[in-house]
This record gives sequence, C-alpha cells and structure tokens, in this order.
Amino acid sequence: KIRVRFAPSPTGGLHLGGVRTALFNYLFAKKHNGTFVLRVEDTDQNRFVAGAEEYIVDCLNWCGLTPDESPQKPGAFGPYRQSERKASYKQYAEQLIADGYAYYAFDTPEELTAKRNDQPNFLYGQKSRMEMRNSLTLPQDEVAKLLSENTPYVVRIKIPENENVSFSDMIRGLVSFDTNLVDDKVLLKADGMPTYHLAVVVDDKAMEISHAFRGEEWLPSSPIHILLWKYLGWEDEMPQWAHLPLILKPDGNGKLSKRDGDRLGFPVYAMNWTDPKTGDITKGFKELGFMPEAFVNLLAMLGWNDGTDKEIFSLAELIDLFSIERISKAGAKFDFEKAKWYNHEWIKKSSASSLQPSVQSLLTQKNIDIKDESLLLKVIDLVKDRCNLLGDFVDQSIYFFSSPAEYDLAAVKPKWSPEKAAFFQEFGQNLTDDASALQQEEKFKSLAETKGFKPGELMLPFRIMLVGGKFGPGVFDIAALLGKAETQSRIEKGIA
Ligand code: GLU
Repeated sequence: KIRVRFAPSPTGGLHLGGVRTALFNYLFAKKHNGTFVLRVEDTDQNRFVAGAEEYIVDCLNWCGLTPDESPQKPGAFGPYRQSERKASYKQYAEQLIADGYAYYAFDTPEELTAKRNDQPNFLYGQKSRMEMRNSLTLPQDEVAKLLSENTPYVVRIKIPENENVSFSDMIRGLVSFDTNLVDDKVLLKADGMPTYHLAVVVDDKAMEISHAFRGEEWLPSSPIHILLWKYLGWEDEMPQWAHLPLILKPDGNGKLSKRDGDRLGFPVYAMNWTDPKTGDITKGFKELGFMPEAFVNLLAMLGWNDGTDKEIFSLAELIDLFSIERISKAGAKFDFEKAKWYNHEWIKKSSASSLQPSVQSLLTQKNIDIKDESLLLKVIDLVKDRCNLLGDFVDQSIYFFSSPAEYDLAAVKPKWSPEKAAFFQEFGQNLTDDASALQQEEKFKSLAETKGFKPGELMLPFRIMLVGGKFGPGVFDIAALLGKAETQSRIEKGIA
C-alpha cells in the first residue's frame, strides 16, 4: 500500500520548493493508486505562526494537490497535527534511553551558551558529551534525583562512533554517512515536545508511510532518521527515501531561499503571504497572475522531464508519465522568464470560458461592468496569445469595454492631416452593422486607395483611436468586435 506524506512546518509562506515537494509526493501517490497525506509538523512552538496551516491547505487546493488525508479531512491515521500527537512521542524517547540509544541531558541553556562561547565549533556529540551533565556522565542516583525533582532535561540521541550509516535513496542511489560527523541531536525538548527528528520517524511509522519525497536539504538529517528507525526496531518498515534536487537561484549560485523573493524581483511563494504580526504581504505566484496549471507544470520541470523535449504537461499527464528514474540529481535553476513562458503557454491553450472568471474579476476591479458575456469570451479568445500573466488581460482587453482613457498622440500627430481626418469620417459613416473584420478591411483599403493613401499609413491612427496605444490584435478584428456604433464613436472622438 503506497502512502506518502507532505509534512510542512507551519512557519509562514509556502516556498515554491515546498510545493514541488508536495507535487512529487502527490504524483507518486496518484500514479500508484496510493494515498497522499498532509501532516502538519508544528512541534516547534517558537516557530509556529498562526494562519500558516490554513494558508498551506489553500495553496495545495489552488494547485489541485488536495490531500487524501489531512487535519481538515482526517483518515484512519490521525491526528494529522504533530502538536496533537504529543503524548505518543515521550514513550519512544524513553524506550531509546532504556535501550542505551539515547540519554537525558540536564545542561541548562546558560551552560550550553557558555560552552559555545568558549568553543565556537562546539557540537554536543561523541567527544564532548562526556564533559557535559547528562545520564552518561552523572551517577545513576543523581540522575534519578534530578528527574524526581522535575529538573528540566532534553533527550539526546547517542550517535555511535566509527559507524557507517547508509541507505538507498530512490534518486541518489547508495548514500552513506560517517557517524563521527553527526552530533547528538535533541529528540525530546524540555517542554516535552519532540523535535522534528523524533516526530518524523514516529509519525512516518504510525501513519504507515511507504515512500517519502523531500528536499535535498534534509539529506544531512537522514542518518539520524535511519538510526532511529533501527534503534526503535522498525527498520523493515522504514519508508523509501527520495531526496529531490535543490532549486537554485537563477545564476545557479546557491539555493533559492525564502528571502530571495524580494531581492530577485519575482515571488518564491505559491500565494500571497500576510505576516500576521506585521501585516506585511509577501507576493505569491497566484496573485501575480499565474494559472495553477502553469505553476504545477513549471514546478514539475524543476528536476524532472519525461525524456523528450516536451515541456507542457497537465497534472493528469504528469501523473501518467511520472517516473523516479527521470528525476535528476543535479540542482535545478529557477528562471522566472521561463516560468512566465509556461504561464503564457497555459493561457494560450486554455479556453475562453475557463479564463473568463479570472479575467472578469480583474476587469471588475477596474470598475468595468461586463454586460455582454459573449463579447468578453470573444475578446479573451482574441487577446489571450498576448498575455503572459493573467493581469495582462486588463490592458489587453479593457479598451473593448471602455474607450481609451489616454491616447498615444505622439505616434500619430506628426503625420496627421485634415485629409486623413476626412478619410476616417467617411469610413466611419459607411460602416455597417455586422461587418466582419475582413469586410471592414476591404472597405478600408479600397477607400484609402480612392483617396490616394497607402492603407498602411492609416492603420496606426485607426489603432490609436480604438485602443489608445500601439498594441493589441489586428485592428479590424478589434473594430468588428466593438461593432459599428462604438467604432464610429471612437473615430469621431479621434478626429475631433
Ligand atoms: N517538517 C519538515 C519540513 O518542514 C519535513 C521534512 C521531511 O519531509 O522529512 O520540511
């Protein structure tokens, strides 16, 4: 039975790398008729941020990656928030101590700070643990006394000396670690909460997780997890690991971090994130005008391909074609221009009716009241090839619904003449209802010729009258959609 989990910590906005992790878990689950679980890893009370869980759920829903089991939709393996599973962790910490794989450490935060000030490279581990106050160094009766007096303590894993911990990663193959380079990580904190390391193992076991995709940044933690699976006696039930390649900054220089969003001029969050303390908003792909289909598509391509040059995939196609063998080990550079290209392709291939709700709401925000929905659909079809972001639809379509607020006069003024004005007056008066774009173009050209103009020199002024600027689709397509009365009125305004 395939069960995978996305296990974010609710600490703030959801980085696109987090969504990619969710996506790969989701694809693997759906490909194999498995279950995609959302588990909220909220054991670190200092980093907990109100609203972050709801936000993560919203992001997943927006992307179409709705979990099969989650805090919102519990299955048989709940609770789905680690804070609500608190009671289950302590017994395992104690079992590890009883079996000699972990120990109580009574060092106060002050003692640890003093030690670190003394030795900047201090790591609590094989060499140093014997100089500290813990159940390995203190006499048994003193340990018992400290515990009975409720002295605060943490539980640390006792990393073995000179061992080699290895496992077979589904992407990287055999990965090994020298235990001499791993420190004695805290498993249970003084507040009784587990750390991530203990909780992730206990919960992956309890929730019967069979496979886990996560970012490469978790690879250094994996020896701790492997040892815990072994020490708890669950080795045979350990999930198969897949560590996804890092997502790099556009120049390839290091990991794309949460802070890069503001610095590099593009978002790194899936959706706008509002900091509950400061009210500051960090921009997201959704609000910037990305379609969820495009966002998911571009994330899939950060580290995966189907072995051909094909780049545009729907979620259903991704599920169908997904294979671990095609995930690369090398980091994937994030390129925002390329991201916009994906969105452009998705806008192009979407039907006008599927784009309509987004476009209509954008226009409503600009105080445009759409009375004729069939006109809006035609407009969308006519201009969608010109849009990279959904927001581009505003400039590309607003002039169909209200006459231009400004005119690019510099583009026409120098060559304007009374003869040209007369031409437009006559052309406008001779417009007929229901004339197609082609019919209008023919009339326009023949009238231009009779008046001794090259049609080309009249097209730009016509466009400026209708659109206001030097952009948009074919000018006769625009005029045909505007209809006779509106085209006439814009011509009148234009020549006045
Ligand atoms: N809670 C971890 C995170 O925030 C999960 C890492 C894992 O998947 O093991 O990413």
